[in-house]
Amino acid sequence: MTTRSRAVVLQKFDQPLEIREYDVPKPREMSAVVRVRYAGVCGTDVHLQAGKLPVPTPVVLGHEAVGQISALGPGLTHDVLGNPLRPGDWVSWLNNIACGRCRFCLVEQQPTLCTGNRKVYGINQSADSWPHLSGGWSDYIYLQPGTVLVRIPEVATPQQVISLGCAGPTAVHGALNEVQVRFGDTVVVQGSGPVGLASAMYAHLAGAAKVIIVGGPTARLDLAKQLGVGHHHLDIFEITDAAERVQLVRQETSRNAGADVVIEATGVPSAVAEAIDYARPDAAISVVGQYTDHGTTPINPHLITRKNLNISGSWGFGARHYIGYIASLPKLLEHFDLGRLVTEYSLTEANSAIEDAKAGSVLKAVLRVGDE
Ligand SMILES: [Zn+2]
Ligand SMILES: [Zn+2]
Repeated sequence: MTTRSRAVVLQKFDQPLEIREYDVPKPREMSAVVRVRYAGVCGTDVHLQAGKLPVPTPVVLGHEAVGQISALGPGLTHDVLGNPLRPGDWVSWLNNIACGRCRFCLVEQQPTLCTGNRKVYGINQSADSWPHLSGGWSDYIYLQPGTVLVRIPEVATPQQVISLGCAGPTAVHGALNEVQVRFGDTVVVQGSGPVGLASAMYAHLAGAAKVIIVGGPTARLDLAKQLGVGHHHLDIFEITDAAERVQLVRQETSRNAGADVVIEATGVPSAVAEAIDYARPDAAISVVGQYTDHGTTPINPHLITRKNLNISGSWGFGARHYIGYIASLPKLLEHFDLGRLVTEYSLTEANSAIEDAKAGSVLKAVLRVGDE
């Protein structure tokens, strides 16, 4: 008997998502079928639903998920780290498969810049094409050959794995790989959404002496305080003047010179100019929050030269960052109660989840699949 799977489908932009049913295919060579248990709702899903990104429709949404192996295709016996795989194992996977053939994949070793035909689960695989189930907001997902599949650490619950979603590996890329936080550093993190909080957590783990979060609204900063993320918290809705924020932040740095590292995770263009003001001479700035193009902003480039600044961008995340996130979960969980970031919804409540994510009334919406 063929198993059927419900899936949340984006059919028309700006319209409610629909639940459809598809047959669950048997996995072909080097492929897997996973029973999804938790799937994250990310800011990108809000943009997709609103039609801000050119994607094929219908598409099964969901590019962050965790679940249990349902069936393994011939040849797929181990995860990417060499752990044996069996049906029932809890797994997660990198949401994209780079082409492996272009200059950025092969020469520059920067697969997030892949110019080939990069497949992204829950974003650019049409639900009309086989295997149909290519998104995580679904009872089952079909993982194609080349997927970076990894068993999740035993100490982490599936809720904890999904709690940071894309933000975890994005922060690994932007906050750790592109800039180096050193022991004793003062780090400013701009933004208190998932990427900001994840970046601040990693700054703590990397040995920062002081982590200052500049963000808002108050509820998010309160949650950060309760989780022990950040030593100082500046509410941008309370302190609306940028010059005043710069003064307050610099007062927290050695000799008022500015921060050693600034991580921008806001998505607001003007935050980049503010990052330059927060930075001490020879500081590093990671611009990780400008995923969506919100246009230009005035900056004073003289300061980049005068302060000898190192400013770096980072686009998305690849296998190295994803595995870095999964492997660091036990360490993150020793310090931070990640499950508290999550608000759960059932699969059939996907429309409410996306509405709440859009309104910013929850920090991390997660769909719980299969036991409703
Ligand atoms: Zn995402
Ligand atoms: Zn490529």
